[in-house]
Amino acid sequence: MLIRSSTPEALRQNNSLAVLSAMRRQGMMAHTDLCAETGLASATVSAITAVLERDGVIERLEQKPAGGRGRPRVLFQPRRDFGYVAAVRISSDVVQYSLVDYAGRLIDRFEEARVHADGATTAFGQSFLTALARLAERSRLAREQVLAVSISSKGIVDADSARLLWSPVLGGATLDFAGLIRPLWPARVMLANESLLVAQAIAGKREAEGHAPALAALSLGHSIGLGVARRDRHGEWEVTAPNFGHMQHMAGGSLCRCASQGCVEAYAGFYAVLRTAFQVPPQTIPAKFVPITEMEKIAAQARAGNRMAIYAFRQAGLALGAGLARVISLFGPMPVAVTGPGLRFLPLMQDGLTDAFAETHEGRLNGVPPILPMTGEDELVFEGHVSRALAEIDLTLATARAS
Ligand SMILES: [Zn+2]
Repeated sequence: MLIRSSTPEALRQNNSLAVLSAMRRQGMMAHTDLCAETGLASATVSAITAVLERDGVIERLEQKPAGGRGRPRVLFQPRRDFGYVAAVRISSDVVQYSLVDYAGRLIDRFEEARVHADGATTAFGQSFLTALARLAERSRLAREQVLAVSISSKGIVDADSARLLWSPVLGGATLDFAGLIRPLWPARVMLANESLLVAQAIAGKREAEGHAPALAALSLGHSIGLGVARRDRHGEWEVTAPNFGHMQHMAGGSLCRCASQGCVEAYAGFYAVLRTAFQVPPQTIPAKFVPITEMEKIAAQARAGNRMAIYAFRQAGLALGAGLARVISLFGPMPVAVTGPGLRFLPLMQDGLTDAFAETHEGRLNGVPPILPMTGEDELVFEGHVSRALAEIDLTLATARAS
């Protein structure tokens, strides 16, 4: 994110941020590489690195030249112990707490089983605070050293106020993370939809490989998530998580876990595939959780030619294809990366997905978008957490220090 103003102060902030962002992308960097990467003059880069080093934001490392002769090469990188990020991933059955240093390296991680109970928001909040304190204590950190707490969940979030508005985990019970954390921790509190983080992580990687910076990330599992990452007209990332899973696929259709009817998820989520495969009436209240082994059984039947199992995956593919055609009509053409535990069933959904596209005007004009299977969703969520939180810290730093 750049600060758009041309006052000398804003210029210094922009330049300082450009230097930090370059180190985020490239890791350890020599002075000449920083100049090349940022396009800034040598003297400007020297002034910035001197201030950042003095303030303890970056550190210098001396690398012995090959052969051990001549002057050592000086490299800069974000100073590891300048501050820390607590990244918290809330899944349906487990909450994962990770501690990351300012250079983006993972230093501690533990998981806690999530207690399933109705009206459990208060209990969840308390266990969350206890675990956060434990995360800092295990690494002997004072609370002031944790600069950001970055939380992710599936569902609908209000990122600005850090409120979880609806989630498959807590239902419609709103959880105000900022209100929960801020009285006890001075850290920034950030909340993001999980698929948004995945979209950001994949789009960033692909852009570094030379691909166009527009991408949708579709997560398949018990619930269906979608993140869309694009560069806006100023060249800045615009990453959103439209309510794709609960977008209506069919008016008056199957009952969804959100209590609405006909959502994409009510056809493509694990519980929906199970319901169709076993010919359970579509208005039956969805199963709370479907073990992956149950899904594997249905998939094995489909591969063996079982008609209802094939039909169930086809219905899922049709709902996903029709939904994606709408998303692309709205946002413009972009490849679709597919992640999540349901990725392994994608081949069984592919025909339905392609056929749904073929029926739409979008599909007839532009065909099916490139579908990119991506394993390692967990790692992508984590990378999204780290890159967003550190970018936010860098921005605040540049704004505060250059003045
Ligand atoms: Zn729904």
